[in-house]
Amino acid sequence: EISDIPDLPDGVPEHFREQGIEELYPPQGEAVEAGVAEGESVVASVPTASGKTLVAELAMLTSVARGGKALYIVPLRALASEKKAEFEEFEQYGIDVGVSTGNYDSDGDWLAQKDIIVATSEKVDSLVRNGAQWVDDLTCVVADEVHLVDSKNRGPTLEVTLAKLRKLNEDLQTVALSATVGNADEIADWLDATLVDSSWRPIDLQKGVLYGQALHLDDGSKKQISRGNEKATAALVEDTLTDEGSSLVFVNSRRNAEAAARRLGDVTRDYLTTEERAELRDIAADIRDASDTQTSDDLADAVEKGSAFHHAGLSSESRELVEDAFRDRLIKVISATPTLAAGVNTPSRRVIVRDWRRYDGDVGGMQPLDVLEVHQMFGRAGRPGLDPYGEAVLIADSHDELNELFDRYVWADPEPVRSKLAAEPALRTHILATVASGFADTEDELVSFLERTLYATQTDETGRLETVTQNVLRYLERNEFLEREDGGLRATGLGHRVSQLYIDPMSAAEIIDGIRSADDRPTAMGLYHLVSRTPDMYELYLRSGDREEYTELAYERESEFLGSMPSEFEDGAFEDWLSALKTARLLEDWASEMDEDDMAEQYGVGPGDIRGKVETAEWLLNAAERLAGELGLDSGPAIREAKKRVEYGVRDELLDLAGVRNVGRKRARRLYEAGIESRADLRDADKSVVLGALRGRRKTAETILENVGRKDPDLEGVEPEGEVSAGDA
Ligand code: ADP
Repeated sequence: EISDIPDLPDGVPEHFREQGIEELYPPQGEAVEAGVAEGESVVASVPTASGKTLVAELAMLTSVARGGKALYIVPLRALASEKKAEFEEFEQYGIDVGVSTGNYDSDGDWLAQKDIIVATSEKVDSLVRNGAQWVDDLTCVVADEVHLVDSKNRGPTLEVTLAKLRKLNEDLQTVALSATVGNADEIADWLDATLVDSSWRPIDLQKGVLYGQALHLDDGSKKQISRGNEKATAALVEDTLTDEGSSLVFVNSRRNAEAAARRLGDVTRDYLTTEERAELRDIAADIRDASDTQTSDDLADAVEKGSAFHHAGLSSESRELVEDAFRDRLIKVISATPTLAAGVNTPSRRVIVRDWRRYDGDVGGMQPLDVLEVHQMFGRAGRPGLDPYGEAVLIADSHDELNELFDRYVWADPEPVRSKLAAEPALRTHILATVASGFADTEDELVSFLERTLYATQTDETGRLETVTQNVLRYLERNEFLEREDGGLRATGLGHRVSQLYIDPMSAAEIIDGIRSADDRPTAMGLYHLVSRTPDMYELYLRSGDREEYTELAYERESEFLGSMPSEFEDGAFEDWLSALKTARLLEDWASEMDEDDMAEQYGVGPGDIRGKVETAEWLLNAAERLAGELGLDSGPAIREAKKRVEYGVRDELLDLAGVRNVGRKRARRLYEAGIESRADLRDADKSVVLGALRGRRKTAETILENVGRKDPDLEGVEPEGEVSAGDA
C-alpha cells in the first residue's frame, strides 16, 4: 500500500488516496520491493497504462524528500507540458516543478531552484554542454519510453545523456520506463538496475483480427460485426458506437488520416446528441480560429460530425483541441498516423490498426510496421475506469492474411531494442560534446566513456566502435573543432562554440564554409539555402515537376548562393541542392508575408510543418550569427536580419513592428499600411488610426498600445478610422 512507503513528503499519501490510488498495482509493488522508493535503480518494462508514471513519482518524490533533486526525461516536447501539469499537483506539498524547453544554448540556471525538472533528452544534453551547475546535484533521473534508444535519430542522445549523468554522479538513481520489449534485461544490465518485467494490465486487452464479418479474438472467440456496404473500418467504428465506445484508427499517411476522418464523420454524425453537436461546433470554431488553412478547415468540418484526424502537420493548438475533445468523449473517432501511439495520453475503447504497412523511403516500398510499434498502438485500447475492457483490432483482406496477422502481431513478441550509437552522424555530435564538456581528455578516456553506453553492453563486434570513433576524430580535427596530441584530446574555441550551439558539427562546417565565402551582405535567400542544406534541416521532398522548376530557379538565383553549386550531372548532390532550394524558398515566402494557406497548398505541407521549418531555420541562423562572430566575419547583421524575418514572417520594413507582443505579421502589415511604420509611430499615432488598422478590435488595440509602452493606452470613446466591417468589429 502507498501508506507503507516511508519518505514520501507529508500529504502525498493522502493525495494519492484521493486520486483513487491506495493499493499498488502488481508491477508497482515489484518496483517498490526492488527499492525504487529507497534510491535504487529500476527498469520497469510494463504495458501502456499500467501505472508507470506512479513508479516514477514514487522514485522522484522520495528522492526529493531525502533532500535530493530529480529529473524526468521525456521523449517529446509535447509530453513535457503534460508531465509538468501532472507533477505540479505536488506543488501544494512543497515540491517545486520546472519544465525546460526552448532554446538549446542556455544553461537554465533558474532550474537550480526546482525539485523536479522535466525536459527532453536533447534539452538535458544541451544543458550539460552549457555547463549547468545543478546537474551535479541530481539524485534521481527518470527516462520515460527508454525503448526509444532504438531510434536512429534521437536514441543516441538519450543514451549518451544517461551515460553522462551517471558519470557525474556514480550513485545516481536511474529509473527507466519502457514498453514491453524483448530485451529489457539488457537495458537493466546497462543501467545497473533491477528489472521489473511484467505484462500485467489494469484492464483486460483483447486482441484480434477482422476478416469479413468475423472478428477473431485471441481467446479463440468470434464476434459478429455487421457490415452492409460499409468498409471494415467504418463497420468497426459503428459497432463500437452502438456500445457507446470511442475508436482510434491508425493509418499510414497524413492523407489517409484526413480521408478516413472525412468518411468516418458520416458514421459518427448519427450518434451525436444535440448538446454534443453544439459543443463540437464550438470546438470546430476554435480550430478554424487557431489556423487559417485548408487543413484546419477540413479538420473543423470533421470535428463538427464527431470525427477528427491527428498527424504531425497539425498546429499544436488544433492537436490539443482534438485530444481534449476525444478525452471528453465528444469526438468519437480519431484517425491518426503512428506518431500518436508514442505520444500523449488518448486511451480509447477500441484501437483499429487499419494499415500495418508503411512506405519506407530507405527500402523503397511498403514495409510492415515493427511489432513494438503495433503493440504500442494496441496499448491505447481501454480507458481505465471507463471501459470494461479494451480491444485492439487488425484488418485482414484474405484468409491467409488473417493467419499472417495473428502470427506477426497478435502472438509475436516485440523486437529487441538495439543501440544506434555506432553511426557517424550520431558520434560526430556526441564525441565533440563529450570532449568539449570535459568528460574525456584523452582517447583512452573517450573509449572508456563510450563503454558506459548501451551500445557497448550489446555489441560483440569488437573494434567497430573504435573504428568509427577514429573516423569521427579525424573529421573533427580536419574541421578544426578538435586538437589531438599524443592521445590527448582538446576542443578548440570553435569546437566549444559548436557544441554549445547544439548543432551537428557537419552543419557547422557547412555554415562556416558558406559564410566564409560570402561578402558582408549575403541575401536572405542565400542564408536560407545555406541552413537548409545542413543535416540539421529536414528538407522538403521534390515532387514530380519540381526538378525542372527548381533547376530553373537555381540558375536564376545562382549568384545568391553561398558556396558552389554542384553540377547537374552530380545526380545525388544536385537533387539535394534542389530540395534545399525548395525548403529555402518556403522560408523566403514565409518571410515575404505569403499567406499560410497558399503556402500549405503550394508546398503540399500542413501548418505544423511550416512552423517546424521556421523554428529550425531560426535556430540554425542563430548559430550562423554566433559562428560569424566567433570567426570575426562582418556578415552578422545580415544573418540577424534574415533570422528575424523568418521569426516574424515579415519583410524587413516590418521588423520593428512585428516584434511587439500581440502584433504578428498580419497586423503589422495593416498598421504599416495605415502609416504607422515603427514602435515610435505606434506610441504617437492617432488612436483612431490605430483602432482602424486593427479593425476596430478595441481590447487587442489597447493591449498592443500597452505592450509598446504607450502612456495612455485607453481607447474608450475612440472611433476607428476607415472602413471596419461589422464582422471584424
Ligand atoms: P503508463 O504511464 O504506464 O502509460 P499511467 O501511469 O498513465 O500509465 O497510468 C494510467 C492510469 O492508472 C492513470 O490514470 C493513473 O492514475 C492510474 N493508476 C496508476 N496506478 C494506480 C493504482 N495503483 N491504483 C489505481 N489507479 C492507478
